[in-house]
Amino acid sequence: MRDPKKSTQPQSFSHTELLQELFPGSEGVPQGSAGEPTLGLYPVADGRLALVHGQQLAEFTPLSGQAKAALHCDLCHFTRSPSEARIYRVVVAQRRSRYVTLCGSTVHCQQRAGTAGLNALAERIFPIESGAEMF
Ligand SMILES: [Zn+2]
Repeated sequence: MRDPKKSTQPQSFSHTELLQELFPGSEGVPQGSAGEPTLGLYPVADGRLALVHGQQLAEFTPLSGQAKAALHCDLCHFTRSPSEARIYRVVVAQRRSRYVTLCGSTVHCQQRAGTAGLNALAERIFPIESGAEMF
């Protein structure tokens, strides 16, 4: 008998779905053209962003409201006015969140940051502890 409340299986289903949506047709670890694991931020539903590094995925959920002071982007390290950047919450463990500030235009932000910047961000976020999913 399986008690669903006592299941130790992490709810990773939604992440798998999301990865397949972002990288249709890819099986296993999505890879870039040079064969390295995919690394990037991808806009998903409701203003959220998905940080993908190989098979790891973290969801960035924008906080409601707007900051009052200038913001410092954690990815490209530009200083932004409150309307040009957003603060995101990332659940990294069951009771632990990180807050990340990112430019509103993630495409340009990633271009400025480059792979080194994305790697540095991924190192701050990953690994996500199992059971940390928000859903
Ligand atoms: Zn930025």
